[in-house]
Amino acid sequence: MPAAVPVRVRLAPSPTGTLHIGTARTAVFNWLFARHLGGAFLLRIEDTDRERSKPEFTENILDGLRWLGLSWDEEPVVQSRRIEAHRAAIAQLLESGHAYRCYASDAELAAMRERQQAEGRAPRYDNLHRDLSPAQEQAYIAEGREAVIRFRIDDGATITWNDLVRGEMRWAGSDLGGDMVIARRAAADAIGDPLYNLVVVVDDAAMAISHVIRGEDHIANTGKQLLLYAALGLTPPLFAHTPLILNQEGRKLSKRDGVTSVGDFRAMGYTAEALVNYMTLLGWSPPEGLGERFSLEQAAAVFSFDRVNRAGARFDWDKLNWLNAQVLHGLAAGELRQRLLPLWQARGWGEGAGADVAWQEDLCTLLGPSLSLLADGVDQAAPFFTAPEPDEAALALRADAGSRGALSALLERLPEGPLDAETAQGLLAEAATAAGVKKGVLMKGLRAALLGSLKGPDLLTTWLLLHRLGSDRERIAAAL
Ligand code: GLU
Repeated sequence: MPAAVPVRVRLAPSPTGTLHIGTARTAVFNWLFARHLGGAFLLRIEDTDRERSKPEFTENILDGLRWLGLSWDEEPVVQSRRIEAHRAAIAQLLESGHAYRCYASDAELAAMRERQQAEGRAPRYDNLHRDLSPAQEQAYIAEGREAVIRFRIDDGATITWNDLVRGEMRWAGSDLGGDMVIARRAAADAIGDPLYNLVVVVDDAAMAISHVIRGEDHIANTGKQLLLYAALGLTPPLFAHTPLILNQEGRKLSKRDGVTSVGDFRAMGYTAEALVNYMTLLGWSPPEGLGERFSLEQAAAVFSFDRVNRAGARFDWDKLNWLNAQVLHGLAAGELRQRLLPLWQARGWGEGAGADVAWQEDLCTLLGPSLSLLADGVDQAAPFFTAPEPDEAALALRADAGSRGALSALLERLPEGPLDAETAQGLLAEAATAAGVKKGVLMKGLRAALLGSLKGPDLLTTWLLLHRLGSDRERIAAAL
């Protein structure tokens, strides 16, 4: 039996934009597969599009992966630094006759496509320069024409592979668009910039990638790449094509759908745990017993491609929100405080008395169960840090004589020093009796005075937290 090939998978993002949710989901599946089998998860930065690739996008992609907890092994490979290896492979293909120079000009190619269209045929390269005689070639060179390098694709070829997600796959060579350009136009004695399908094959082979896991929009590329592996005498990896992420209308999720970059989700207050959990569910059905809320490690323990669906996965905000709430509700107060503190500080909150760590943690204990986004922890914390503007209902209550009387009775009894829950309950009862109203009337008035609203978290806890800052007195007095 041949020795087992070590599992090595890779994510190959192009740094031409910020980390897209589709790329991140591909990263999740690669990571889960590698970790499940104790293999390596590698990164390759595909920066050969020099005009559109930017270092800040590379940074954004690496930051996003780190934030999501998708740790990688080994130094990321930078594709542009491997151009000599790419050129050497092209030279090899020219040498072996698998590739040739095509001198067709843009105008000639455009005319060819028009002809095909007029004849009702799908546009493709007609392989016209495939077998130029040396004399024809010399004539083009003498005209000063430059050339692209094309890889021969036999129309009669059948390409098959056993896809880990989609099963038996079969492509006809004639469906691949004719001989494929593998190097951009350059002088006839040079090799121009190598192109995507060629460089991916050369790099995947050099990195000893065992499984290529990527979105199904790459299926046609896989057909072409398998032909390149064969022509270069390289052993191909196995392939797994994962379903696309679809928007609510069932079309491929694109920039037009608004929020598509991982940074956008982060800025909206989603946690990394919920987002990776959600991305795992986009196309993968967890085995029974795992439930829908799990960590990356829990998913990695049971991950397999058998449970990856073929159909596209529709983006479901409700599910993501539900998962995010689950994550936030499960955080210990100290952890929640760590995450909220930067957001609070960005608003200038959490100074003076409100800077006390224990006080902030108690605030987190109070608010945690009602958060569904981290941003809710900003909105809901606001009245604890700064005196809120009363809303209409709270203002209306200020006119109520019973409520006012009870609040003044409470203010008279309010201690300067610490206040505990039992004493506070006793004070409420006493003040209500003194004012001749039900305790409920006072509680409603107190909530309106403290929070500027009739809604909010548990009143007693709210009051005690504000009392620790010394702001209950001011707020009650201001409401009278
Ligand atoms: N750079 C390609 C992309 O971003 C990588 C495709 C692949 O995984 O081969 O789509």
